[in-house]
Amino acid sequence: MKIPLSKPYIGAEEIKAVEEVLRSNVLSMGERVSRFEETFSEFIGKKYGVAVNSGTSGLHLAVKAFEIGPGDEVLTTPFSFIASANCLLYEGAQPVFVDVEEDSLGMDPEQVESKVTDKTVAILPVHVFGQPCNMGEIERIAKKHSLKIIEDACESIGSKYQGVTVGSIGDMSVFGFYPNKQITTGEGGMVLTDDENKYQLLKSLRNQGRGESMQWLSHDRIGYNYRMSEISAAIGIEQVKKLHEVSTKRRAVAREYLQELANIDEIKLPNTFSDRTHSWFVFAIRVKQAWRDKVIEELQKVGIQSKAYFYPCIHLQKFYREKFGYSEGDFPIAEKLSKEIIALPFFTDMGEGEIQYVCRNLKRIIRELGRS
Ligand SMILES: *Cc1c(COP(=O)(O)O)cnc(C)c1O
Repeated sequence: MKIPLSKPYIGAEEIKAVEEVLRSNVLSMGERVSRFEETFSEFIGKKYGVAVNSGTSGLHLAVKAFEIGPGDEVLTTPFSFIASANCLLYEGAQPVFVDVEEDSLGMDPEQVESKVTDKTVAILPVHVFGQPCNMGEIERIAKKHSLKIIEDACESIGSKYQGVTVGSIGDMSVFGFYPNKQITTGEGGMVLTDDENKYQLLKSLRNQGRGESMQWLSHDRIGYNYRMSEISAAIGIEQVKKLHEVSTKRRAVAREYLQELANIDEIKLPNTFSDRTHSWFVFAIRVKQAWRDKVIEELQKVGIQSKAYFYPCIHLQKFYREKFGYSEGDFPIAEKLSKEIIALPFFTDMGEGEIQYVCRNLKRIIRELGRS
């Protein structure tokens, strides 16, 4: 058996929708992008959505739209995909890392508060693996110190914090639709906001700095080509329709994993909170640091793809070490997590037989490592 780490959930509806776009001859800047923006922003619970060509572009535009730049500090997490910190470097702003909580894997609010300075302008929390951060505390701190919140919700489509959908809480939020996310558009992302002026600005920045009714060769400001194509948007429209089904199925896969792997001393299972809804981007277990690579290697031998996540942490990536002088030990919890976590195969239509095959082999490998 061969089991991939992730797999998009694509059906006949997406294929038909793409064919319709191709036959229409309108491959970009048509009405599908707007329709995708409307349906997705409504699902999340924000007034406006601006679809872009990747989650990374979305993060960049969010930073740009708040005019965050040189001299500004933004509090964020070292335990994330690198785009959530790089988006600050693009604009010459300073990412100020804060260690994470071991249970939520998100920024530790106590440390957030201790790192606020008079240069701090925003907090950029990342909801990793589908697990919401401690948003109540983060909101309280942001309010107290008049800081903007940019939520990186790229891994948490459909997650909820105390009943509120993740991505509807911050001043701006960003989602990603790469093929391993809960829903996909091939490549793509979206920035969400309730502020109409920011919405207009985001649309202009995405489209070479053009204004709403401007001619093709007139430009108000420096902008980018971060547009989403009609082909991607057509896929997105169909994927949004399936979001409820996708969430239900992913929850069922997670439940099966949690049952199969319960009560094994050597495996720490992902945490769930009674006041939060996990949307299961990946299923991340923890094993002894010394075992991690061996487990991944042994799983691969029987056709099972798995992956260390996020290793190394952002602050220990080569250019962050060089630019900011970070070293091992700066953020102990994030570093410990990054050395212990293994993401197991996880996708929407993963079957019971596949889950059992993974668990059976994982248990065998753990048993063998325990004996040696
Ligand atoms: C996927 C992801 C992004 C966006 O990635 P793209 O590949 O640019 O769409 C941003 N932040 C996090 C935490 C992600 O997992």
